[in-house]
Amino acid sequence: MINPIIDFFSPYHYSSFASAEKKRFRLTVFLCFVSASIAVIYSTVDLINKVYYALPFYSILLITPLASLWLLKSGRIIVSKMLLLTAALATTFMSAISDPFEAGVFILFVPFSIASFALVGFSHKIVNILFSLLVGAAFFIAFFGDFRLPYEQHPPANYITISLIINFLIGVTTSILIVYFLVELNMEAESELKEQEKILISKNKELEKLNQELDRFVYSISHDLRSPLSSILGLTNLAKFENDTAELKKYMTMIQERVKAQDDFIKEIIEYSRNVRLELKSEEVHFKSFIQQQVDALRYQDGAEGITFEINIQEKLTLQTDKARWKTILNNLIGNAIKYHTPGKINPFIKINGELTNTHFIIKVEDNGSGISDEHVDKIFDMFYRGTDTSNGSGLGLFITLEAIKQLNGTIEVQSTIAEGSVFIVKVPVLNATKI
Ligand code: ADP
Repeated sequence: MINPIIDFFSPYHYSSFASAEKKRFRLTVFLCFVSASIAVIYSTVDLINKVYYALPFYSILLITPLASLWLLKSGRIIVSKMLLLTAALATTFMSAISDPFEAGVFILFVPFSIASFALVGFSHKIVNILFSLLVGAAFFIAFFGDFRLPYEQHPPANYITISLIINFLIGVTTSILIVYFLVELNMEAESELKEQEKILISKNKELEKLNQELDRFVYSISHDLRSPLSSILGLTNLAKFENDTAELKKYMTMIQERVKAQDDFIKEIIEYSRNVRLELKSEEVHFKSFIQQQVDALRYQDGAEGITFEINIQEKLTLQTDKARWKTILNNLIGNAIKYHTPGKINPFIKINGELTNTHFIIKVEDNGSGISDEHVDKIFDMFYRGTDTSNGSGLGLFITLEAIKQLNGTIEVQSTIAEGSVFIVKVPVLNATKI
């Protein structure tokens, strides 16, 4: 019931209000209705008791909240709040000087002195202080000043008792309501602060972890960048004192290999940073020809000779996905399957299977190469992890692969038996796929 009323009086920019501001807004709407209701109650009591002199004040108390609601809706929030407070204060002042002291109108000055803090908020300190001073002044003038309204007032005795009860009830309830509201606001701010603190602590931990990872990254990179350079330096030193052309050629080939290793390493770092930086793209990928292209690019590299490649995927399977990420994934998995083949093995093969289920696209890259031992299998996706001493790679390939898969919201698992081979299974959820 309350919410549709609040929504009705909300200005167009209400959704941009901070949470405390929204609460104050709701309280203002609520107090507008309270003021209007008080005006109606008092007018009824007065009319029943045939007391007419205060009716003009009550009509102000009825009309002003309606004007305040209209101001709220048109976005003039502070003006609306001040109008409501001033009108209510003016009515109370007039009642205080016209009603007998026993009617207890003075009680109403108490909620007024704190109302502006609740309605306007602490950011408008000056407004709040000025209003509180105004309330204080109104109280003293009404109590000690010698004001008389230009007509006789002789309300009946029971009217005075009823007024006292009503004024007491309204004064106490409104005060409790305002204090409750302020306490609630404070508690909310406190719990928000605690929540922020929790987020900050976890962000800090994350940062610490990232910092450690960065340290490790910088260390490993500088180490991996230096090691081919040291070999090249050593080889050039040897070559300087070598006259035999055959030996010199051997050194040149070794230097070439080292340069290529370094080039591959730098390429991987670039690939990693591109993977992290670039936004995901969605484009149509025809997987059969795409996988074929990746295989063709790799099948002539060193160590690939003699390996049979088999691609099993539906002819017309297409996916809306990020081609660059898939290129990274396939290049690394197929590249590793070639790299970790067992030389001299009979019938070496690499099988790539693609399958589309209702929810996922699954690619399996299987080889009958060296396999991975149990002690290494859990760590091969770590940054710079090399499973064998014979690996001349950077240990970054599978780490980058996993990052790319994560960006596609997918998963990767590996099944491997040492000396028999490995299967890497990549599962990525699909939204838009076709197969005919
Ligand atoms: P790199 O190949 O540069 O060493 P990767 O991150 O690509 O680094 O792989 C990590 C480790 O996982 C490799 O050192 C290797 O021991 C193991 N590995 C990856 N793929 C295979 C595979 N198909 N067969 C056997 N071992 C593999």
